[in-house]
Amino acid sequence: MGRYIGPVCKLCRREGIKLYLKGEKCYTEKCPLEKRNYPPGQHGFAKRRPKLTTYGLRLREKQKVRRIYWLSEKMFRKYFAEAKRLARLGKGFTGPNLMRILEKRLDNVLYRSNLAVSRLQARQLIIHNFVKVNNIKVDIPSYLVKVGDVIQLDPKALNIIKPYLESSNKLNIPSWLNVNFDNLTIKIVREPERSDIEYPIEDNLIVEFYSR
Ligand code: SF4
Repeated sequence: MGRYIGPVCKLCRREGIKLYLKGEKCYTEKCPLEKRNYPPGQHGFAKRRPKLTTYGLRLREKQKVRRIYWLSEKMFRKYFAEAKRLARLGKGFTGPNLMRILEKRLDNVLYRSNLAVSRLQARQLIIHNFVKVNNIKVDIPSYLVKVGDVIQLDPKALNIIKPYLESSNKLNIPSWLNVNFDNLTIKIVREPERSDIEYPIEDNLIVEFYSR
């Protein structure tokens, strides 16, 4: 995501929620958010969560979602513009459209299918040529999947993901994805719905942020 190179856990503490950026650690009590839910920095504890202005609330929501999907501001704005364009054409509403586009990114699909421990790991697997879509190698994490696509993870990737696969929760997969863990394939069975995204996200605040 952009040029951010600091400890990723700080991002979660800044937003006050788990963004699941670190992989396995996020699911254990080693996650700092399990222990201290206040902003990072020397004075974080003293500050706790300040009361935000309307602008601050909208900004934080936008940053939160951008960080969950690990995107640069430029890319995030591009998705927002597309979501708005679709809404203008009478296809849904901007906020839910934005969330659906983000969910359809190939890196997100691998992560949501529990074939990668984090979106960052999914991105690495894609960039390093471990992923095919409809039998063709795709090394672009931002590839947007379509209904009917079949995504195949190279068995060589098992060396990387095996420890995670053994412990992952294979039941927690949204129903628009049909995952076969034996042959490491994912079929896109339908378009993702807004309700398939379980994070507490107020996409209307993001729309208001960019409409100001
Ligand atoms: Fe760090 Fe993951 Fe916890 Fe976020 S959810 S604070 S990235 S361990």
